[in-house]
Amino acid sequence: METLSHMILNLEAKKEITGIKVSRDAPPISHLFFADDSLFCFRAFPDSCQKIKDTIKFFCEISGEMINYDKSAVMFSPNTPTTFKHIMRKILGTPSTEKLGKYLGCNVEIDGRSSQVFHQLVEKVQRKITSWKNLALSQAGRLLLTNGILAALCANVLSVFLAPTLVKKKIDSILCRYWWKGSSETKGICWRKRSLLEIPKERGGVGLRSVLRFNTALLVKYAHRIHNNNELLISKVYNAKYKGTPVEHGISGKQCNTASWGFKGLVRSVAKCREGFGKVIGRGNRIAIGDDNWLPSGKPSFKSELDAATLGTKKVEDLMIPGSRVWNSNLIWRSFDQESARAILSTHIPTQVGEDKLLWAGTESGAATAKSVYAYLGSQLEEGLGSTANVMFWKKLWGMPCLPKWKVFVWKILNKALALNANLCRRGVMVCQECHLCGKEVENESHLFRDCSVSKHIWYATDFGIRP
Ligand SMILES: [Zn+2]
Repeated sequence: METLSHMILNLEAKKEITGIKVSRDAPPISHLFFADDSLFCFRAFPDSCQKIKDTIKFFCEISGEMINYDKSAVMFSPNTPTTFKHIMRKILGTPSTEKLGKYLGCNVEIDGRSSQVFHQLVEKVQRKITSWKNLALSQAGRLLLTNGILAALCANVLSVFLAPTLVKKKIDSILCRYWWKGSSETKGICWRKRSLLEIPKERGGVGLRSVLRFNTALLVKYAHRIHNNNELLISKVYNAKYKGTPVEHGISGKQCNTASWGFKGLVRSVAKCREGFGKVIGRGNRIAIGDDNWLPSGKPSFKSELDAATLGTKKVEDLMIPGSRVWNSNLIWRSFDQESARAILSTHIPTQVGEDKLLWAGTESGAATAKSVYAYLGSQLEEGLGSTANVMFWKKLWGMPCLPKWKVFVWKILNKALALNANLCRRGVMVCQECHLCGKEVENESHLFRDCSVSKHIWYATDFGIRP
């Protein structure tokens, strides 16, 4: 395929075909290859069609590859005259189409106006879950399946497009119901709310994957990769078309209403994690003193509002002595509170002048990974919930050398998520609250598993011989 790519570039260099540009400064794109699919884009002239056809034919001859022209298609821009279309279709020998169709199960043309295309994802997940109905897995097994396979099912779509929230919530609720009941259709009680299940295990949840956050995490990772690699074709196209990368747009909060759905999705995802990005000083000319997180603790605090007004909008290079790479300590002590001033003065200014870098705070390398962004989004949510998780305890429980389903069982006892009479009554189910075994007290967790006279006998009769 490399050879074919060179042949097409050669045609372009000889001006025999003209690639398509998304804006005036953008690089022309004449072909895109992914796996065994090829997409050629060029201005519609009969001569160009002939050249492309000849090149492909020549490539097939020397490589032994074959092209299935029945499975190939040509798509014209809407303003191409019909007679023109007819001539060119004849030259290329392929039928024409109105839509580019799907790639890896995802529609190529998505504008976000309709959530219809994303509903296929919901159906896919639903189908998969229905096929697992008869597997009779434990909840620990179901957790593994949902986190591993279901997430992978939609990962290719979710790593490119920001799916509508409604669709993602629907998938999340299907997964949640499957975890509680083993199927998404049967009736039954979901004992605890989904947000608790989605908290990581060591913080008191069970770590059920949330598609809503997973989507954002994948996009932030992708956006950061585009930002850090100026040489990527997509970076060049975005920089030319939107005058900045999705990360820059997301962090600065710039409006991009007319942008493509793909670009908007990246920008919105980055905006959600804005505080997780930090800037590292290079030249210092692209870091705003008051607006960017460039200190380990985030933004610096000014001594007075006047200082904030005069320095806030300036760049970090203005805090250095002009013409040198040394902090202007007088100015810094004068303008910032003690803690910030100390933090600034202890920040290293690299002697070699390079570009200011934008790093993700969640990883040591500074590159955003899906896992770290996902964890970051989760931690923000937990703060909102006012969680008082006992990390040590949960880590010990989940790390115990016993069957995973037992750990889930203990988790359910601690979270009042078992169908005990007391819990059922609380949920409005008409049952008698008394214990089935002794009939004397209310059947709750501590009674049934510890205090009940029958349970005491059972504990004592086990190999452990426990006497509560
Ligand atoms: Zn009892």
